[in-house]
Amino acid sequence: MTVAGEARILDGKATAREIRREVAEGCRQLLEQTGVVPGLTVVLVGEDPASSIYVRNKEKASTKAGMSSRVVRLPATASEAEILSTVDGLNRDESVHGILVQLPLPSGVDAQRVIETLSPDKDVDGFHPVNAGRLLIGLPGFVPCTPAGIIELLRRNDIPMKGRRAVIIGRSNIVGKPMAILLLREHATVTVCHSRTPDLATVAREADLLIAAVGKLALVTGEFIKQGAAVVDVGIHTVTDEPTVERLFGDDPDRLRSLRDKGQTLAGDVHPMEGRSRAGWLTPVPGGVGPLTIAMLLQNTLRAAQRSAGIDSNDR
Ligand code: NAD
Repeated sequence: MTVAGEARILDGKATAREIRREVAEGCRQLLEQTGVVPGLTVVLVGEDPASSIYVRNKEKASTKAGMSSRVVRLPATASEAEILSTVDGLNRDESVHGILVQLPLPSGVDAQRVIETLSPDKDVDGFHPVNAGRLLIGLPGFVPCTPAGIIELLRRNDIPMKGRRAVIIGRSNIVGKPMAILLLREHATVTVCHSRTPDLATVAREADLLIAAVGKLALVTGEFIKQGAAVVDVGIHTVTDEPTVERLFGDDPDRLRSLRDKGQTLAGDVHPMEGRSRAGWLTPVPGGVGPLTIAMLLQNTLRAAQRSAGIDSNDR
């Protein structure tokens, strides 16, 4: 039951756990039927600390699901040609079903060119133009993990999408645009906003379903949110100072403790206190969209392995 003035939490961690369990079961069955172990290879160029943490998490999660996981590490000085030839080798390696090139790549490397070198059949991030195009026209392919995870979250929590007004703030290729296509597929009426949208709060306030993928700390305040709307917060920001923590979280003891003990806490694109008091449903940060992204990467990798083994998985 919704308590007036307090949003229900859309628990991304719990939904991600459920998806990961299903993927683990899928891996077990694939092994039993075909002897194939899904293989995910991550290409990590350089030593960006955030990227290294993401890659470690992906490695752990895929191993736990029963996949074989490998990280190919290249130095930050690697040339574009070296990266392309690494990807090309992985394209031809039959034990590798999914390839993920961790972004960002060092400056001077054309990331788009690297993505276009990936085999679309192994592009488990769903960034290759072939997969983007297939998504656009409703053919099966790999869908970018973050928006795919958001759809799973909404579906599994019985948040209605059909016929609802959805507003997405952000038009990136990895979140905003694919999110729009996926919500259209669910029969929502979709508006995409961006940095040139005038009177953003008024447009956002029309949404039954508001997706904030803007990359600006707490930009979405109470005035952006229709009372009772479902709000999905994609943003991830590290907050390291007490005044900002207090502005966003009031005197929440958990956040203040996190700041004291770890020197930081995480927040999103939605102002958490204002979001909680106006939304009907809200994803927390952390524990909302983040865990779903990894779960969907595993789901995509399992599908890549099933398809390569000639097993008809429920292709979307
Ligand atoms: P991006 O920077 O590529 O795109 C941001 C979009 O927001 C752009 O389309 C831009 O037009 C729009 N925008 C920027 N400022 C705006 C403003 N003031 N008003 C309206 N629109 C504005 O970012 P992205 O890759 O889509 O990521 C967005 C956020 O989501 C970032 O914080 C990122 O870290 C986070 N993210 C989280 C996950 C996850 O797994 N949780 C995955 C991907 C991205």
